[in-house]
Amino acid sequence: MVGGGAGSFIGPVHRMAAELDGNIELVAGAFSQDPARSRQAGETYHISPDRAYANYQEMMERERKREDAIDFVCIVTPNHVHLPVAVAALEHGFHVMSDKPATATLKEAQTLEAAVKRTGLLYGLTFTYTGYPLVREARRMARAGELGKIRKAVVQYQQGWLSTSLEATGQKQAVWRSDPAQAGLGGAIGDIGVHAFNLLEYVSGRQVVEICPDLSSVVAGRSLDDDCNVLLKLDNGAPGVLFVSQIAAGDRNDLQLHLYGEKGGLHWWQENPNYLHVNWVGKPSQTMHAGGDYLSAETRAEFRLPLGHPEGLVEAFANIYRDFAAGIRARFSDPAAPLSELVPGINDGVRSMAFVERAVSNSRKGWCAL
Ligand code: NAD
Repeated sequence: MVGGGAGSFIGPVHRMAAELDGNIELVAGAFSQDPARSRQAGETYHISPDRAYANYQEMMERERKREDAIDFVCIVTPNHVHLPVAVAALEHGFHVMSDKPATATLKEAQTLEAAVKRTGLLYGLTFTYTGYPLVREARRMARAGELGKIRKAVVQYQQGWLSTSLEATGQKQAVWRSDPAQAGLGGAIGDIGVHAFNLLEYVSGRQVVEICPDLSSVVAGRSLDDDCNVLLKLDNGAPGVLFVSQIAAGDRNDLQLHLYGEKGGLHWWQENPNYLHVNWVGKPSQTMHAGGDYLSAETRAEFRLPLGHPEGLVEAFANIYRDFAAGIRARFSDPAAPLSELVPGINDGVRSMAFVERAVSNSRKGWCAL
C-alpha cells in the first residue's frame, strides 16, 4: 500500500476490503511521506517492521528482490502521487490497483496508459460504486437490452461537506482536495464527478461523446470547482444530465443513477444500495433486493450474506478486489490472462480524466466533443 497512514480516510477501507475474502494480505507499505509515520502505520497494520518503508521507491526496490515479494501495489495517496507510484510499480513488475481519479491530469492518464500497455501488467481502478451487486445487476439488465434502447441518463452526486471553507481549518482531506497542485485539474468534478461519469458508462454500456459543462467555485477563495452541472450526449444520440456538488449543504453521499430506456427506467441510490428499482411501461414497478434468488447467478455470487442482511461500501470495494485477485491468480499460470471486465481499468481512467479536462477547460463555452 502507498498512502493510508494515520488519519487517512480510504487506505484503511482498502485494507479491510482487500482482506475480506482471504485472497489478499497487506504485507508491505509506504504509508506516509514521513518515514516515522510510515513505520508507525506499519505497526497499526501489524506488518513486519522491515516492510514498512520510508518511501515508495524504497519499497519497490526492496520488494523486487524478495522471494516473497508483493504481487501488486495499492495506491491511496492524494491524486498528484498516483502517476509516479503507478508507473514505478509497473516498471518494477508489480500489478496496480489505484484509487480514483486515475491521475491528476489527462496528459498524466495518457502517460499511465502507455505504461500499462508497455508492461502488459494489470491495472485496476477503484470506482467503488461499480462493486455494488445491484449496480452490476443494473449493468447486466441495461446491456442485455432489458430496458430497450437507452434514451435518457441522469446521474447526480451531491455532497455538502465542502459547503464552508473547510480547507481553511486544516482538515486533511479538504486541504489537498482544494489545492490544484495535489488534486489536479478538477475540484468536485475530479473528486466525485469521475465516479458519476464512470457509473453512467459502466451501467449503460454507452459512451458520453459530447458535453456542455457549467462549473462554479461557490465558496469564496476556492480556486477549484465545487459545483458542476453538465449536459451530456451519449453515443447513441441519447441526452443526459450529470450534476455533482460538494456544496449541496446537508447532503451526504447522494449518488443516484436514473437510466431510461424505451421499456422503462432503472433507479439506484448509493445511500440505500441494496435496492434496485425499475419502473416499467405498462407493467407494475419492480424493486429488487440484494440477495434475492430472482437476481442473475453472477449477481448472487457477489453477495456474502443471505437476503435481508445489508451489505455496503466495504463489500462493494471487496468485490472489486475479489475480481482483481482472481485476475492476478490467473496470471500465475497464464501471463496473458485478462482482468474481469467488471473491474474498471485504464481505459475508464483515461475517459474519466478526458471528461474532467474538457469540463474544466470548456466550462460555460457551450458544447464540446469528449
Ligand atoms: P487522505 O488525505 O485521507 O490520505 C492520503 C494518505 O496518503 C495520507 O496517509 C498521506 O500521508 C499519504 N501520502 C501522501 N503522499 C504520500 C507519498 N508520497 N507516499 C506515501 N504516502 C503518501 O486522502 P483520502 O481521502 O484517503 O484519499 C486518497 C485517495 O483516494 C485520493 O486519490 C482520493 O481521490 C481517493 N478516494 C477514493 C474514494 C472512493 O470512493 N473510491 C474515497 C475517498 C478517497
